Amino acid sequence: MWTEARIVIINDRIPGGPQTILGPAGCGPDVAVLDEVADATVITLDDTDERLALLQSLLEERGLRCSVRRNDRFTDEELEAARLLVMEYDTNATVFAGPMMGTTYDMSDACNRCGAGARQTSALFIDGEMLPRLEGRRAATTSHEEPLVDEKLAAALALSGATGLSFRDVFAAFEERGFRIPWRQVCATHPLPPMSPRSTGIEHYEPCPCGRSCFTGKEEVPLRLAYRASDLADIRDVNVTWEWYGISKYTGDLSESVLPYPLFLVTPKVRRIFLDAGITGFDWLPIRVVDE
Ligand SMILES: [Zn+2]
Repeated sequence: MWTEARIVIINDRIPGGPQTILGPAGCGPDVAVLDEVADATVITLDDTDERLALLQSLLEERGLRCSVRRNDRFTDEELEAARLLVMEYDTNATVFAGPMMGTTYDMSDACNRCGAGARQTSALFIDGEMLPRLEGRRAATTSHEEPLVDEKLAAALALSGATGLSFRDVFAAFEERGFRIPWRQVCATHPLPPMSPRSTGIEHYEPCPCGRSCFTGKEEVPLRLAYRASDLADIRDVNVTWEWYGISKYTGDLSESVLPYPLFLVTPKVRRIFLDAGITGFDWLPIRVVDE
């Protein structure tokens, strides 16, 4: 495993252009890539690379502060050996779904302040305007990290004997009408116990009194979810976190609410099925197993 550190600098904020910093910091085209659309330069380094501190001090000298986004990266062997993997999808390719699109939920066991614990009771309705994002793909997620797969991949998952999952139909919702699309939502039936307090890279902002929602990742600290060995005694191939992440705007009226959501944690067996189907776009992040 190594930790990747990524800095994005906006080119026109650097007097004289980004090269006046990249050159002295020793960052060549192997680590600094131009993002033409954003007119930015993306620098990716190993977190232990001394050029990182040099780059930061050169930016500070010019009165610029750039945050460093850190992510752990793993070898295939490390991913294969993990107990569970957090499944995260390319956020640029997600589709909006949830109660505002017409998906219904049973709120009887949910927190009445944040909506954590909402239980989906209908097919999944996604924003029809976002359908083009699914074109040419076989898997994706909603903006709430719910995995979506095409029917062939759903059949492969079902045939594999993977445990802890079920499927729901997916509808594209438009203002006037909706229609079913040849995709399936992967639903998890097994929540894990609360994570270990030794997890890092997670912020618990404006916590709801229920303690279960308002979790989000921290940019500068890599996300590392930790579980005690005893928490994992009863895992399935597909599981969800006890904690619910993301924005919560639960008003009591589901049609105008944004619900928080749990993260999906899957075994390497499930990752392998996605890889065998030729699917890229997911980041797979091993959990850590700790004593307490
Ligand atoms: Zn709550």
